[in-house]
Amino acid sequence: MMRFDILTIFPGFFDGFLTYGVVRRALENGIVQCERHDLRDFTSDRHRTVDDRPFGGGEGMVLKPEPLAAAIESLGVSPKAERDPTRESVILLSAQGERFTQATVRELARLERIVLLCGRYEGVDERVNTLFCDRELSIGDYVLTGGELPAAIIMDATTRLLPGVLGNEASSAYESFGVADLGASEEGEPPRSTHGSGGLLDYPHYTRPAEFRGLTVPDVLCGGDHAAIRKWRREQALLKTMHNRPDLLKEADLGIADRRFLQRAKEKEDA
Ligand code: SAH
Repeated sequence: MMRFDILTIFPGFFDGFLTYGVVRRALENGIVQCERHDLRDFTSDRHRTVDDRPFGGGEGMVLKPEPLAAAIESLGVSPKAERDPTRESVILLSAQGERFTQATVRELARLERIVLLCGRYEGVDERVNTLFCDRELSIGDYVLTGGELPAAIIMDATTRLLPGVLGNEASSAYESFGVADLGASEEGEPPRSTHGSGGLLDYPHYTRPAEFRGLTVPDVLCGGDHAAIRKWRREQALLKTMHNRPDLLKEADLGIADRRFLQRAKEKEDA
């Protein structure tokens, strides 16, 4: 059982997210637990104030440290200095954080407990980060109005990697940003459902009908030649990655055949 604690001024924000699809089922099956904590419950003034003006001046408001500190300390997580990083992580959602990627998801999926601090306004008093947080994560190079969507994204991506959450355990290894490579599916075996792996994007998927608005499904997918299907999928994953995310090719796990294919594809397109 993995436990998520979300600290937020908008606990109701997650109502929809927690009641649909894979995440809902993981909660119902007791694979994950999610507790939401309203920062206003940890204030001590009549107005339940969670924000204040920034030292040094400037636009906007900043989330005060006291309610966040009280909320974190109410959770029973270990103090930062004694925390076992293989079991617990307290994470600040922040546009200034390290980039959240599928590699981060794989790290988080090994933990027992994840605490997610959602900022609002101009952000969170930095001392909360210093005193309580193990890491600062950003979901991408853009600025949102709050950490709630990022928290939901992190919980969503992490949950789907937990054992028993997806129907097919192998499926998450063979998707976009996956770790497995082509060799993992043995010769003669039916092709894996996906093969956009080894650091590549996933290949295109097709389902019925075989013809839709004049477009047919690639012939190779309708035949039973598993080796040909594997090859086609690998090539499509290479093409997609080359077109949409050429930066990923540098880190991708490419064989000689892959490199040759990309070289030819580039020459064809340049011509
Ligand atoms: N002044 C900040 C932005 C604050 S946005 C800056 O310029 O960096 C308000 C809150 O939204 C942040 O405290 C953070 O919790 C959340 N947030 C915004 N963009 C985010 C992103 N890309 N990733 C994760 N959290 C983000």
